[in-house]
Amino acid sequence: MINILDKTFVPLISREDIENRITTLANEITNDYQGRCPIFVVVLNGAFLFASELVKRIPLTCEISFIRLSSYAKTESTGEVREIIGMDNNIEGRDVIIIEDIVDTGLTMSQLLSQLNGLAPASVAIATLLHKPEALQTSIDLKYIGFNIGNKFVVGYGLDYDGIGRNLDSLYVLA
Ligand code: 5GP
Repeated sequence: MINILDKTFVPLISREDIENRITTLANEITNDYQGRCPIFVVVLNGAFLFASELVKRIPLTCEISFIRLSSYAKTESTGEVREIIGMDNNIEGRDVIIIEDIVDTGLTMSQLLSQLNGLAPASVAIATLLHKPEALQTSIDLKYIGFNIGNKFVVGYGLDYDGIGRNLDSLYVLA
């Protein structure tokens, strides 16, 4: 059990289970993109740890780009429309793989997808460490999912609670 600010969290997924699952996803991506040069688009801040563990297990020639796009303040979604910040690679005609920490309602991802599709990539796939199927409000094809989890707030492995907890090497859920 850990305390972050005013909340208590309990262990959800261990570091070992996360890393094993990431290895499996990396192998799938490596097989699916043989002979291609994908561009990974990492959604900061939450996906930084997942992205680094994932891409170092993928021995393909590839590019990695980092963007920002956030919709959460504390534990509630604000539902705001946010623009992509920092997309300086030209993705026209490229195979894009978005790396995200978590798809909750899916609204952030739908906005991101429609903005990226406007830049005429050859394909776009999504790799997300976590997904909350019960919270999903829109239909999205999530090709690579680390773990499906319940509809509860989680921290660790890149995800924060009010700025804290990103450095935890395993995942915790609100008690
Ligand atoms: P969505 O638009 O899918 O509802 O929200 C996506 C974003 O909300 C994620 O990229 C993440 O930043 C944040 N988010 C959603 N659920 C959680 C959660 O359980 N914990 C944390 N720390 N962030 C979350």
